[in-house]
Amino acid sequence: MSSIQEFYSRELPTDYYEGLLADLSKLNEELHAFNALNMSLRSGYPFSAKDNICAMGLECTASSKVLKGYVPPFNATAVERMLGNGFGLLGKTNMDEFGFGTFGINSDPIARNPFNSDYVAGGSSSGAAIATALLKYHVAIAESTGGSISAPAAFCGVVGFTPTYGMISRYGLIDYANSLDKIGVMARTATDIRQAFDTVRGRDRYDTTCTDAQPRGGAAKRVLVIDQLMKHVDDRVRSAFDRLLGKLENLGYAVEHVSLEGIDVAVQAYYVISMAECSTNLAKFTGFKYGYQLREFSKGYNEFFTEARDAFGQEAKRRIILGTFVRSASVRSRYYSRALRIRAMLTHRLSELMARGLILSPTMPIVTPKISDVESLGPVQAYAMDILTVPANLCGFPHASFPYDYADGMPLGAQIVGTHFDDYSVIDFVSAWENIFDYRFKYNVGAL
Ligand code: GLN
Repeated sequence: MSSIQEFYSRELPTDYYEGLLADLSKLNEELHAFNALNMSLRSGYPFSAKDNICAMGLECTASSKVLKGYVPPFNATAVERMLGNGFGLLGKTNMDEFGFGTFGINSDPIARNPFNSDYVAGGSSSGAAIATALLKYHVAIAESTGGSISAPAAFCGVVGFTPTYGMISRYGLIDYANSLDKIGVMARTATDIRQAFDTVRGRDRYDTTCTDAQPRGGAAKRVLVIDQLMKHVDDRVRSAFDRLLGKLENLGYAVEHVSLEGIDVAVQAYYVISMAECSTNLAKFTGFKYGYQLREFSKGYNEFFTEARDAFGQEAKRRIILGTFVRSASVRSRYYSRALRIRAMLTHRLSELMARGLILSPTMPIVTPKISDVESLGPVQAYAMDILTVPANLCGFPHASFPYDYADGMPLGAQIVGTHFDDYSVIDFVSAWENIFDYRFKYNVGAL
C-alpha cells in the first residue's frame, strides 16, 4: 500500500492539519525547509511545491529578493493537477536562488540537513528534500535543471525522481534554463513517486514541449557503471557503492563496468548552456513587473537598472555575466555552439549504451559536507560536484536518486538512469531496491 492510500484509509484527528502545521513551523525555524507555509490547509494528502513553481495566492520568490512580494494569480499545471486530485498544498519549499546551486546555501536563510543541521541539505531543491525527510505523509513537487532533485534527495535520504524531459508541463515554472528544466517528484517510497508522477504528467496546452508519451517499464535487469564517472568519486563513497553493487547482484542484477569517452566534459557543456539560457530568462526581472518594485523614475537609465538588479544574489549575477558572454557573437562558436554539439554527442552515446541496461552511480562524489566546508568552495569546485548528476540532466534522461546506506548517521544516495521514456523502469528499479532495504528517518511529523 502506498503512503497515500494508507493516509486515506486512516481516520484523521479533527485538529490534524493544525497540529501538523504547528510542528512544521517549529522545525522550520531550525531547518528552513519552507519559504511559505499554507496555514489554512485543512484537507487532502499534504504536498509541497518548490518555490519556483507558482501556486495561486502564495508568495513565490524562487528564494530571490528580486521576486519578494510576487504572488502568482494562477497555478502551475503540476500544482493545478495535484489540487484537482485531492492533494492539499502545504507550502512552498526553500531552494538555491532561481535553482543556482548544489548545496542549498545560495539562499537566505540557508537550508539545513534534517539528520544534522551543521550539514548541507543539498540543492537546489533543498526544502523539498528536507520536507520529505521530516513528514511521514508528503510528496514534494520539485524541479531539476542539472541535478537539483538528485543532489538534495541523496543528502537528505529520500527518493528523488526526475522524469524524461517533457513528461511534466513546465507551465508556471520560473524558468532557469528552458531546454534543461524538468519538474519532478520527491517522496519516501517509489510507489508514492509513481502515483504523484501519474497525477501530474501528460500533455498540456500551455507547454508545447510537454508530451503525452507513455512511460516505459521493464528495462533489462542489468546495471552499467561508467569508469570515467567513478574516477571522480572519493574513497568513502566508492567503497559503500561497491557494497551496493554486491547487494544488487544478489538481487539478480548483472553489473557491467563500461567505458564512455567524452562524458567528462558534460559539466562544462552543461554550465555553458544553462548559463546562456538563464541569462536571458533573468532579463525580465527589471524592477517593474514582478516582485521587487523600484518606483524611483527620476533616476537615469543606468542608475535605475543597476539598483533594480542589485537585488540578485552573487551566484545569479555571476551567471548573468558569464551567460551573456558565452552567447556573444565573437565567442559563440567557441563556447555555446560547442556545448550544444557535446550535448548531442552524449545523448547519442548514452542512449546507445542504455539499450543494454540502466546506468548506476553514486549520486554525489562526496559524503554529505558541512555547511562551513562548502561555503569556502570556489564556483568551479562547486560546479565539479555535479559531475554524476549532470549527464542525465543534460540529455533529458529519466533518473532517480535513492538512499542505499548510512555513513556516520548521514544517508548516502545512488542514482539510476534510464533512456528516454524509461521512466517506469527507473521507478521500478527503486521499488525492487526497497524490497530489501529500509530507509531511515529521524522525524515522522504528522504520523497517524
Ligand atoms: N547545481 C546545478 C546548477 O547550479 C543544478 C541546479 C539545478 O538543477 N537547478 O546549475
